[in-house]
Amino acid sequence: MESANLPYTQKTPLNTVWRDNADPAIYEAARTSRLFNAQKPTQYPIAIAFVKDASEVVDVIQLAIQLSCRISVRAGGHSYASWSVRDEAILIDMGDFSENPSLDEATGIVSIPPSIMGKDLIEYLDAKGRVCSVGHCPDVGLGGFLLGGGMGWNCNVSLSTQGFNFYAQWLKERKNWGWACEQVVAIDVVTADGQFIRSDIQQHSDLFWAARGAGPAFPGVVTRFYLKTKPAIKSMFSSGYVYPIRSYRTSLQWAATVSSSNDGIEVLAIGSYSADLKGPCVTVSILAYGDNDDDARDVLQKIDASHPNGALLQWICEKTNMQQQLEKSGQSFPNNHRYYVDNLWLDDNMDFSLLDRAFNSLPTKNSLLLCQSMFPCSQRDLPDMALSLQSNQWLAMYAIWEEEADDSRCETAVHEAISELQQHSKGSYLGELDFRARRGHYWADDQYERLVSVRRKWDPLNRICGCLGLEV
Ligand SMILES: Cc1cc2nc3c(=O)[nH]c(=O)nc-3n(C[C@H](O)[C@H](O)[C@H](O)COP(=O)(O)OP(=O)(O)OC[C@H]3O[C@@H](n4cnc5c(N)ncnc54)[C@H](O)[C@@H]3O)c2cc1C
Repeated sequence: MESANLPYTQKTPLNTVWRDNADPAIYEAARTSRLFNAQKPTQYPIAIAFVKDASEVVDVIQLAIQLSCRISVRAGGHSYASWSVRDEAILIDMGDFSENPSLDEATGIVSIPPSIMGKDLIEYLDAKGRVCSVGHCPDVGLGGFLLGGGMGWNCNVSLSTQGFNFYAQWLKERKNWGWACEQVVAIDVVTADGQFIRSDIQQHSDLFWAARGAGPAFPGVVTRFYLKTKPAIKSMFSSGYVYPIRSYRTSLQWAATVSSSNDGIEVLAIGSYSADLKGPCVTVSILAYGDNDDDARDVLQKIDASHPNGALLQWICEKTNMQQQLEKSGQSFPNNHRYYVDNLWLDDNMDFSLLDRAFNSLPTKNSLLLCQSMFPCSQRDLPDMALSLQSNQWLAMYAIWEEEADDSRCETAVHEAISELQQHSKGSYLGELDFRARRGHYWADDQYERLVSVRRKWDPLNRICGCLGLEV
């Protein structure tokens, strides 16, 4: 990317593209080429600054103060609603960040730049015998993913509800990794007034609290995350059962039962059009994580004995690993497509027949409906952090299409299905939605109030753009 002639004397990163005097094609590439969603936003930043390190972030914020304009941030560019692209703001793009991940082998803590993608972090850690939680698709940026809370791999691996005091046992064994933001132990931040600070449980702890679930409402620019890692997964196996879509209720019920009565598995029900089958279908996908192959295989074989009749396709106990699973997920979310998404935390024990419209209104052959069993993890108390909503079932609908002419039809299909269910929900996970679509709950009431006060304290002039379509 070439730099345009800078109209200002303030020191700026070499690689800044200004809306008003750059070649339009260069400006457009700077504005949109790092966005995942092919449906491009209608906002036009004053400039896009491709920063290389934290000191350049400080420079850009000082410039924004001088120009009395706002700041928006892009790490991996995977916000479906392209939150980073805002009118009358300078967009700090972290895609050229020159810093690498670095693992402290003594503590197991890895420090990462926000723009690193999940697959690269997994590869880096795997070579060192470690792992941490990343998004389900290979190229999701850790920056936006962690700030939103991060529903990553192994987020909800279950532990049997049988036996005495299973919550205490769950907490002790902690087989599941929980929310990805729970692995954050510290962050480096450039504040809205251009100060570079470290924030953790002891210093500037209110910012640390916000960094775990505020999403785009975070009132600063994180330049580095410090994450706890775990020993690499020893064994991972996969089973899947594909049913016709009319069986979705039985499939969901079975998925929920399996999830709540087996240890060390992750269960997802997916509504989709299968390439191999004629009509839409629902796939119950089960991943088993074990300390050895026998354990993981045994769990899946036991589950196989209980699967409902009528599967059109199935695979049982196939050995797999994190890289393969990332790649498989990535194929379901193709690049260069248009996306519109929304999601809900469904009321506990809701009647699955209420999901009829959602399962029967996928607007295109690429579109998806995900239903993730979160029980029993959904029943534990969350740590003191901004992320504060959860329930036993998470439902997300993804319209995925290619032609602009289908924009309205696809958006309407998602909007109608989700709006109808909103009254049966506790709110939504903010990582996968567009705040402009409808009013919802994204934090519990106490956490929302605290977030507003943290934002006011750290960004009284509202310099950091925040949530597109929602005042916090
Ligand atoms: C294909 C795909 C798969 C996904 N899978 C999952 C999944 O498995 N689990 C899940 O929880 N989510 C998932 N998501 C959602 C994803 O976590 C969010 O969209 C997240 O915001 C993406 O982060 P990013 O850095 O790539 O996005 P960006 O668009 O770069 O960032 C989004 C926003 O986060 C804020 N932000 C990002 N970095 C910083 C920073 N360093 N400092 C301050 N603010 C910052 C900014 O407000 C920014 O506009 C997926 C998204 C896609 C497109």
